[in-house]
Amino acid sequence: MNSPAPASPFGSRRYNAYNDWVTRKHGGRIQKVSVAAGFTCPNRDGSVGTGGCSFCNNAGFTPGYLDVRAGIHAQIETGLGFLRRRYPAINRFIAYFQSYSNTYGEMARLRECYEAALAHPDICGLAIGTRPDCLPDEVLDYLAELAQTRHIELEIGVESTSDAALEQVNRGHDFTCSADAITRAAQRGLFITVHLILGLPGETQADMLIGADRLSALPINAIKFHQLQLVRGTPLARAWQRNPESVPLFEEDAYLDLLADFVERLSPAILIQRLGSEVPPHLKLAPTWNLRLSELAPRLDALLQSRGTHQGCRTASS
Ligand code: SF4
Repeated sequence: MNSPAPASPFGSRRYNAYNDWVTRKHGGRIQKVSVAAGFTCPNRDGSVGTGGCSFCNNAGFTPGYLDVRAGIHAQIETGLGFLRRRYPAINRFIAYFQSYSNTYGEMARLRECYEAALAHPDICGLAIGTRPDCLPDEVLDYLAELAQTRHIELEIGVESTSDAALEQVNRGHDFTCSADAITRAAQRGLFITVHLILGLPGETQADMLIGADRLSALPINAIKFHQLQLVRGTPLARAWQRNPESVPLFEEDAYLDLLADFVERLSPAILIQRLGSEVPPHLKLAPTWNLRLSELAPRLDALLQSRGTHQGCRTASS
């Protein structure tokens, strides 16, 4: 007879889920409403680079209903209409500045955009996605001031902890830059979520797992994982079309195995906010999975359960 898997410190789950934490802290789920403020990115406008990251096509992660010209209030109204129909039980929302680098602009413009979102009566906070090299102290000080009274989450695109991979995808910053931005944001008490792409060219799976140790050593609150997806029109997609072996992609089982290995090495204090992402089918070239995004969480839980492990059981310090 098989002996039962050892108990998990996360109750019925095997990892520290962000949604569970939000429910405990706020008494219910919070849903993010995407808004587009029309910012650009220093890796596109020439200040850092011009071609952008080789995996990036912002259409791949910008909801189609967003129209910068409509203004922030109107975008929130549209988004809320959709979300209320889909999630009738949720009544707390935060505005999510997602596309491009949303701290890349003059302070006056940043204030105008964020405060327009916070002025909406149904918005209780902000999630702000950006690059680590777009976080000067002045911006962090302002966000810390907002965080005194509002729920503010800073989402930093770390993408990889390997400088070789960052260079290969033309990211335009290194891991030291990410660690510095994270440290300065944490010194101000900001809630920090990092984004990580698993599968970038230029790093091995062993390198990716070292990323779990590196991120665990930093003062981050949460992580969002993304599997590498090839989006039409990007340099990486073109490289794959020319020679598929030059950009190896994860099949779903291999991705789940890697996620489980990563999560076992990740600090148990770091909340897991997402396990993968989904580019709209008309924009995605590869990989094609049968697995739906919503199946990742139960599949990861089942895998960790079958291994008798949980998040943090193999951290560098354990
Ligand atoms: S992924 Fe972000 S940083 Fe890279 S080019 Fe796209 S918008 Fe710019």
